Amino acid sequence: MLTGCNMNNNLDSLTYYAATKKYDLRFPTLTEDLDVDVVIIGGGFSGVNTALELAEKGITNIAILEGRTLGYGGTGRNGGQVMAGIGHDLDRIKRHVGEKGLETIFKISNMGAGIIRDRIAKYDIKADFCKGYGYLGYNARQEKTLRGWLKEFQAACPDEEIELYVGADVKKVIGSDLYTCALKHMGGGHVHSLNLLLGEAKAATEQGVRIFENSQVVNVEYGPRVTVRTAMGTVRASKILWACNAFLNGLEPTIYKKTINTYAFQLMTEELPDDLIEKISPIRGAYSDISPVINYYRVTKENRVLFGSATQYLEYIPSDLKAWNRKRMLDVFPYLKDVKIELAWGGPLSCSVNLFPQIGSLPEHDNVFYVQGYSGFGVTPSHIVCKILAEGMSEGSERYSLMSSIPHLNVVGKDKLRSLLLSVGKTWHQASGYWKGRR
Ligand SMILES: Cc1cc2nc3c(=O)[nH]c(=O)nc-3n(C[C@H](O)[C@H](O)[C@H](O)COP(=O)(O)OP(=O)(O)OC[C@H]3O[C@@H](n4cnc5c(N)ncnc54)[C@H](O)[C@@H]3O)c2cc1C
Repeated sequence: MLTGCNMNNNLDSLTYYAATKKYDLRFPTLTEDLDVDVVIIGGGFSGVNTALELAEKGITNIAILEGRTLGYGGTGRNGGQVMAGIGHDLDRIKRHVGEKGLETIFKISNMGAGIIRDRIAKYDIKADFCKGYGYLGYNARQEKTLRGWLKEFQAACPDEEIELYVGADVKKVIGSDLYTCALKHMGGGHVHSLNLLLGEAKAATEQGVRIFENSQVVNVEYGPRVTVRTAMGTVRASKILWACNAFLNGLEPTIYKKTINTYAFQLMTEELPDDLIEKISPIRGAYSDISPVINYYRVTKENRVLFGSATQYLEYIPSDLKAWNRKRMLDVFPYLKDVKIELAWGGPLSCSVNLFPQIGSLPEHDNVFYVQGYSGFGVTPSHIVCKILAEGMSEGSERYSLMSSIPHLNVVGKDKLRSLLLSVGKTWHQASGYWKGRR
């Protein structure tokens, strides 16, 4: 039983991804005692990507232990948005990494979509990658921000198609009257995240990585060789990686207290006719506004709309996710009022205080690694961060040293005061959005 994430049936409903997955992969439950080089706890993007990166370096004696099935966590529940960047606000980490470090991180943060595209091509993964992303603004302040992003994007990715649309031209990017500006970035896009994960898992197992599902880790002992126990088996390893993100519970208290969970919710519409999809999304892409707490949505290969959002100020889990998300979708696309909502689900997101992903090892156990805290967007960032983490877990690298040197505050009172802390945090995040040009 996972205690860290307060899951309930409402959030745990069938997802678009589970309903349309193309890989029928099943992995055994751990029922033996194994000796490996690396044991990874958690079978989402973080666990599987790190394993695949290590396998590509020749480290293949790896066991991944997943408590449920691959993609049970955020990886099988998200919006599939392939956005640019990592973290929300690189200025927040500037004082720790300095000007030069920030430059390195800015470069790193543009690698994500390329890693995903290369991996899909290399392993022939059926993940429906579609290019086209629209960052949307409602007012002049946000337009100014998007103009700044345009310059940054053009400098960082000169070969990619990036264009700012304002006024009536916005409709060339998005079929909504709500927005006054749109930055189209054809380097980003969207992906079927569960099929991507399963394709990556298949590639990892073909290189020797062993995956176990329904193998919840219940006890871990640290030392020169770590010992990891599930109900029916044991893994001993030289290195361990905690890759449980928002699903980590009190089993690893030091890592657990560095993040706090907030929730996001998704809906999926029925299949829509081509002309309606063209109207909604002339670029057949993915979108988010640039407010501090975003609405994010996209069209799918099968002509559905996936719409996602989170509560704006007060932190709570709506009792009727279909109705809750439909209301937000109709604010953007009122002409979808007669469209049927077929599925709705949700899940926890693990947030760092500085909204930047966390990688590193425990100071007193340098063979105990962790990755977590994507703070709302992890599809692209997990691909970047786990590449760097795998460098740190093998030969070491300057960029691993840089990323893992960023300190992360503990969230005091996160279990007892979760809703209160998040409500205060969201209100602050929303308010500060004014002077950061995000509102
Ligand atoms: C509703 C929602 C919408 C989102 N939308 C987007 C989006 O559009 N774009 C984007 O970039 N990001 C989005 N995200 C965030 C993104 O999905 C996550 O950041 C990312 O998938 C995290 O991957 P992960 O592997 O670190 O964690 P997860 O995918 O959560 O995997 C952790 C795994 O660890 C397992 N586990 C936990 N404890 C144990 C244990 N004791 N033993 C064994 N296994 C254990 C869990 O079962 C789980 O499968 C969204 C998330 C949610 C919930």
